[in-house]
Amino acid sequence: MSGPTAPARPRDFLRELIDRDLADGRHHRVATRFPPEPNGYLHIGHAKSICLNFGLAAEYAGRGIAATCNLRFDDTNPVKEDVEYVESIEADVRWLGFAPTAVLYAADYFGEMHARAVALVDDGRAYVCECTEDQIRAGRGTLSEPGTPCVHRGRTAADNRARFEQMKAGALADGAAVLRAKIDLAAANMKLRDPLLYRIRHAHHHRTGDAWCIYPMYDFAHPIEDELEGITHSICTLEFENNRDLYDWVIEHTRRTQAFAAEPAPRQYEFARLALEYTVMSKRKLLTLVEGGHVSGWDDPRMPTIAGLRRRGIRPEAIRAFCELVGVAKTNSMVDYGKLEYCVRDDLNAVAPRRLAVLRPVALEISNWDELGVGAEERLEVPSFPSELATAGSRAVPLTRELFVERDDVWAGDDAPPRDFQRLAVGRTVRLRGAFAVTCDAIDRDAGGAVTRVRVTAHPESRGGGKVADGRKLGSALHWVSAERSVVAEVRLYDRLFAVARPEDGGDDFLRHLNPASLEVITDARIEPALADAAPGERFQFERTGYFVADAVDHRPGARPVFGRIIGLRDAWAEATKASPPPRDAAAKPKQNAKAATRPDSKSPAEFRAEARRRDATLQATYDRALTLGLTEGDADLLSGDVDTAALWETCADAGVAATGARWIINELPRALAEYAKAGGDGSLSGQRDNLAAALPELAHMLDSGEATAAQGKWLLVKALEFPGEAPRALAKRFGLPAAIDVAALDAIIDTVLAANVDKVTAYRGGKLGLLGFFVGQVVKASAGAADPTIATERLRLRLDA
Ligand code: ATP
Ligand code: MG
Repeated sequence: MSGPTAPARPRDFLRELIDRDLADGRHHRVATRFPPEPNGYLHIGHAKSICLNFGLAAEYAGRGIAATCNLRFDDTNPVKEDVEYVESIEADVRWLGFAPTAVLYAADYFGEMHARAVALVDDGRAYVCECTEDQIRAGRGTLSEPGTPCVHRGRTAADNRARFEQMKAGALADGAAVLRAKIDLAAANMKLRDPLLYRIRHAHHHRTGDAWCIYPMYDFAHPIEDELEGITHSICTLEFENNRDLYDWVIEHTRRTQAFAAEPAPRQYEFARLALEYTVMSKRKLLTLVEGGHVSGWDDPRMPTIAGLRRRGIRPEAIRAFCELVGVAKTNSMVDYGKLEYCVRDDLNAVAPRRLAVLRPVALEISNWDELGVGAEERLEVPSFPSELATAGSRAVPLTRELFVERDDVWAGDDAPPRDFQRLAVGRTVRLRGAFAVTCDAIDRDAGGAVTRVRVTAHPESRGGGKVADGRKLGSALHWVSAERSVVAEVRLYDRLFAVARPEDGGDDFLRHLNPASLEVITDARIEPALADAAPGERFQFERTGYFVADAVDHRPGARPVFGRIIGLRDAWAEATKASPPPRDAAAKPKQNAKAATRPDSKSPAEFRAEARRRDATLQATYDRALTLGLTEGDADLLSGDVDTAALWETCADAGVAATGARWIINELPRALAEYAKAGGDGSLSGQRDNLAAALPELAHMLDSGEATAAQGKWLLVKALEFPGEAPRALAKRFGLPAAIDVAALDAIIDTVLAANVDKVTAYRGGKLGLLGFFVGQVVKASAGAADPTIATERLRLRLDA
């Protein structure tokens, strides 16, 4: 059991491999890198790679291990690259919260790369080929047919050297010749069939200018870059799996005495790239959107670029939590958009001050204003955060006779509104947020039926949260602004850029799936005066409407304010697309609220809990047990104030997860219940007690063992409420959270397999490397299919090569 403050350490196959490399003594340090090509702006897929590479370095450094992560520009193709991209990429990495150990450029190694290529030529391992692209392709054969050598393959080393020098000197045109590795035209891995190492490009490079007209190919450059920088774990996405053999070949045959040559060579590991619903995720397609004018630029708030997400108002904290939630897996999958939205809301809830803003204003007049005796205007001090958040702060909001309220909050029909319409309709009483209750007397409409004015009578006695004198039940509190004192603002409502979840399914035709309603601009919204002074980039929750940000570019002091919607308060999209929304049961409100209403005003929650323990011996027993199990007095108190909380924690304690259970009941559960209630579910603890008693202990175990990260745990907790009776592990599987991999168990299986095949191990070590496939098959079989073949291969190599 971990202590109350022990952070859950994320575990995945990469972390397991690195742990093992350190334990085995293969490495004594960890060096990763993030290697973007500066041919576009970074997108949220890159954020996953950034969080992974920089996150690993930070984690291991935190454990006292020498660990570094470089930002390295893989700038080997001058045609598509640009300094604008270089600058934006570094800014994005830093904005995400990571400081590179070094900022490096592949171009700075061009001299060394060229020297290594010349050495390969001299060794007879590379040749200049002057075939056309088509000829080269045809000469490679197919998966079932070996390739055939071209006339250039037989050139002497001296010939090749002379020709390569001509390439470098600029004597040949683009495409006239390439340098190819001479490996094996019959290799099972097509990438080894004499791959290209250098090509001719008479182009200006953003860093080396016109110094070079030959440029190295990715497959040649990347391993050398890694090796020169002493990278230990070279992490890339799955599509590079087949390139790994070539990566190893290049290092093996070009390694020279350099700073890190005494250490084991870097190894490449692949993980699943991030694909997100309702968006496209390739720089090329994003460039199409920018160049075609479908968005306002790389930083359009609807773009999945880091620059776009930043301008949208999303904080780096939310992006990092999202990457943690998605995790590191070995199989590609499409991540549902709701996960990103969940992280954005979860992050903003605690930090975005509440404000009043009316997007579609309609006039409301308080008929008995003069009887209130406050003169022309009353300055209300309204809290900026709800009471369940510990954050303090308030601001003055002017209240006047004439207000604006939201058009949607006024009943515009001829018929009577339904009973659950808790907003403005003739005869109904609602509370104005932060002010008092009003009863609607009349709704004026124009000839077309559109509402022009709402007339209400205020109940002065309800000021400051008090009841209405006649005891009638109030609807929810509506947001409003003063007609006279509010400020006109432009509000941009963003929605998903694409109308379908998988716009890339139709290939390059993705543009036809653009969501025509992804941007709506309201030019006459009304905001409370405090919002007019917002700094560009400042974020708020407009009460009942959503989270908004003062636009970083267009919101300027002194001009009409411009706000953009970061995200709605609830998942409007899911609600609109769901066939039948969950029943909204008004009675299923959190029970705590009902309790709070009947609780005597004079008693604090702590006093209330203490009294509950005095009255109920089982609660006192829970308090005592919590102390015995090492919890603080404060936590013990919070857990033993009511029977539902106490019983839930007791279940966790019985399951051996007293501390984590307590932490999650106190810190995370209230938010999860509120979230679920907002979505229309039963968010009461009493209603969810049995469900939670089944789910929370397992969840706590997952957190303690590192099987789930904190972000994943929070997500699973909400899902556990939505899917009663489904265990957290099953939910993790259903929602595609990567399962943690137990490498220790895998190694045990490997040991058994190797012990049972001693003769084959000897043969392998004697050079029959093809036996690796046999071992992998045996391991997968012995694990009843549970072992991942790629990871099994890595682990087997470690054992067999030792
Ligand atoms: P794109 O296809 O969007 O142009 P890329 O892979 O060509 O992306 P690079 O600049 O080469 O972009 O990528 C830098 C690093 O980011 C690489 O290690 C790459 O594997 C990683 N990366 C790129 N896209 C994703 C993604 N969607 N999910 C996770 N990692 C990614
Ligand atoms: Mg690429």
